[in-house]
Amino acid sequence: MRLQEIKNLDISGKKVFLRCDFNVPMDEYSNITDDRRIKSALNTIRYCIDNDCSVILASHLGRPKETFEEKYSLKPIAKRLHTLLKQDIIMAKNVVQDDTLELAKNLQSGDVLLLENLRFNDGEIQNDEEFAKRLASMADIYINDAFGVSHRAHASVEGITKYFDMVHKGAGFLLSKEIDFFYHIIHAPKRPFVSVVGGSKVSGKLQALYKLVPKVDKMLIGGGMAFTFLKAQGYDVGNSLVEDDLLDEAKKIMAQAKELGVKLYFPVDVVVSEHFDAESIAKTKTIQEIPSGWIGLDIGPATSTLFELALEDANTILWNGPMGVYEMDKFSKGSIKLSHAIAKSFATTVVGGGDTADLLRITEDEDDMTFISTGGGASLELIEGKILPGVKALILGDEK
Ligand code: AMP
Repeated sequence: MRLQEIKNLDISGKKVFLRCDFNVPMDEYSNITDDRRIKSALNTIRYCIDNDCSVILASHLGRPKETFEEKYSLKPIAKRLHTLLKQDIIMAKNVVQDDTLELAKNLQSGDVLLLENLRFNDGEIQNDEEFAKRLASMADIYINDAFGVSHRAHASVEGITKYFDMVHKGAGFLLSKEIDFFYHIIHAPKRPFVSVVGGSKVSGKLQALYKLVPKVDKMLIGGGMAFTFLKAQGYDVGNSLVEDDLLDEAKKIMAQAKELGVKLYFPVDVVVSEHFDAESIAKTKTIQEIPSGWIGLDIGPATSTLFELALEDANTILWNGPMGVYEMDKFSKGSIKLSHAIAKSFATTVVGGGDTADLLRITEDEDDMTFISTGGGASLELIEGKILPGVKALILGDEK
């Protein structure tokens, strides 16, 4: 699979529509608490500016009710871009109304225009043709650098691509890098290849688990999703998170792994609590002795040691999902220890998923990972072997 990339397009002096993912976390005062997503878009933005382009930036932020809501405005993003790029950012009042189209029309080389939150218009999520056409009408070139939403057939990601031919659209540097990493890790990983999966539910990752088992040498399963597997093995897991309707699927995955000789690792001990509450008493118990009615909220110390040992000979590690409720101090140790173990490994380490990336910020292990993906859902769909709607239109040749 070869993507049309921005570096192979003639963008010099042109007007570029750049779909970014500026969906950053903010506190109640609209202060940006983590600007990593903005920073990772700078490469492509600067490349456009250096090529004398005028740039129209577009993104969504949160889930507004398809109309203007101050708390979802991209104004704080414009401010941060101003600081990072050290230049004025023209902030549009809306997305595709006439005044904004006029602003886009009058842009001069080097100017940067930021559209308001794409999701203030219902046309974005509905992939409305008219809306996509108005977005497209602003520019000569379309660039997608928003991996995190490329699995969604939205107007600014999918619909808009129909209005540009293959020499006028392509992937930005960030999107190319994300796709490259996942493509290689799935098709040609250096072995042993170990995947670590956690997070709350099996359901969200079921298809990815099926696709991963035949590709990996070992799989370490922690987090809430481990309890469905443990229950399927006959353990009494108390009130821990279990998806009873997926017990058979869990058994199938374990049988598939056994048949293929893939080693599966599950928690041998867990940190349990009577309530899902940061203040309630926590105890460490072996999985054979989870007290009736208690909830498993983290992997225990013996599991951390076991997982660390299993990771020791890995040459490629793919990690998605925390090992426990890392948002609460008492249940964060398992995830923190795992993060440190993966960080100190010499393997190629690829981390996907918003929560896992957030965890790395807490553990300060970011710089020691080979690659941190900005898109959780999108990376899972890539692992599942799907061609993302936002990427499909940017693939060169017959491979489409
Ligand atoms: P996901 O979005 O599926 O990757 O899940 C991430 C969430 O899983 C985080 O918010 C964690 O708090 C949660 N989580 C991890 N372990 C558990 C657990 N044992 N019980 C309940 N939730 C969990």
